[in-house]
Amino acid sequence: MRQSELFTRVERNAPKDEATVNAQLLHRAGFVDKLMSGVYSYLPLGLQVLRNIEQIVREEMNAIGGQEVLMPVLHPKSIWEKSGGWDRIDVLFKLESRTGKEYALGQSEEEVVTPLVMKRVQTYQDLPLAVYQIHWKFRDELRSKSGLLRGVEFFMKDMYSFHESQEDFDRFYGIVRKAYLKIFERAGLVAKATEASGGSFSEKISYEFMVLTDAGEDDILYCDVCEFCVNVTIAKQAVGSACPGCKQGKLHKARASEVGNVFDLGEKYAKDFDLTFVGRDKKKHHPVMGCYGVGVSRLMGVVVEKFHDEKGIIWPESVAPFRAHLLELGNASAKEVYDYLQTQGVEVLYDDRNASAGEKFVEADLIGIPWRLVVSEKTGGKVEVKHRTSKDAKLVTKEELVNAMKIQTKT
Ligand code: ATP
Ligand code: MG
Repeated sequence: MRQSELFTRVERNAPKDEATVNAQLLHRAGFVDKLMSGVYSYLPLGLQVLRNIEQIVREEMNAIGGQEVLMPVLHPKSIWEKSGGWDRIDVLFKLESRTGKEYALGQSEEEVVTPLVMKRVQTYQDLPLAVYQIHWKFRDELRSKSGLLRGVEFFMKDMYSFHESQEDFDRFYGIVRKAYLKIFERAGLVAKATEASGGSFSEKISYEFMVLTDAGEDDILYCDVCEFCVNVTIAKQAVGSACPGCKQGKLHKARASEVGNVFDLGEKYAKDFDLTFVGRDKKKHHPVMGCYGVGVSRLMGVVVEKFHDEKGIIWPESVAPFRAHLLELGNASAKEVYDYLQTQGVEVLYDDRNASAGEKFVEADLIGIPWRLVVSEKTGGKVEVKHRTSKDAKLVTKEELVNAMKIQTKT
């Protein structure tokens, strides 16, 4: 992509109404644009990152047998009355049509997915089943001051599974847990799985996947030796106490952002909607359900919170909008290198604009594409290659570029 044709604009200064690093950098580097608090447009660069994260999530959900669907955002009031959510859920957006009919905007979709799936399930032989979607959610959040970390409109992956027994749910949960840790790892993050209370209608334990960051809105206690981790709001333990898991480590407190979670829904929704299947004993049973969320747009914000420096964003290669940023300086032409990289399948943003070298360097660091390639009068027919995290640049021929960019530098 030629940068001269890219729909974006880099800005020197951070917007006054954004307090968090992710919102400031994503705005300045031209990834997102704020319409109002908690509601953003994604510009081409930002959309590409969102799509990359979405694709990682999709691949891992498909790998464990999830089937992708797309469900409506606009819901009739009746389904939310059936589950009790109409009065219970404070973040539920409610609207009225000109005919006086009332609707809700999807904030989670158990009310839609339960009847949808159970219409197609007759016996235990049709189970287990897991469907998911990657779609916009709407929540009337009171505090949406953390950029992409807390949207009023945000992008989420929500999966729902249906099982003939609690044991089968437990089995599947273990599989999802592994898939989740893989998703976060592929996005360049380390997530800890915490135990938390099961939410408003269940006494069951739920699991939250937390990434340590000061921009997060949760406090967790984690063990410095094993994987034990709890949310402070429910924790029985105190900071500095011995880990109840391994008995060797100590518990530390940290700020974290919840990037995903898993709920054991039990039979709640199947009961609310009176939906059953015929079990092995030939009797009718309610399925045991689980729901599994990943905050796709929140993940994008968390990645920026974790990976940036004073100059700008540092995208992990797996989610970066482009792999390489090719800067053409002075009177030199980088067109040949650009064409060559495209034949090699390298996604490259080609800064062919009429701008000063200083400007191009500053903007490249702000945008944060992993590999910076420079062609100038000084590079003498070669290309200067440098990773965003490295200070050292190397001069190589265009044919050597692909190899030179294989050497992974840790972000
Ligand atoms: P939180 O405690 O942060 O409000 P939640 O428990 O309400 O999260 P869920 O309803 O389980 O979250 O949603 C699934 C995932 O969607 C969360 O783990 C989080 O990553 C993401 N998410 C939830 N609310 C928001 C929001 N307002 N903006 C962006 N992402 C969100
Ligand atoms: Mg919430």
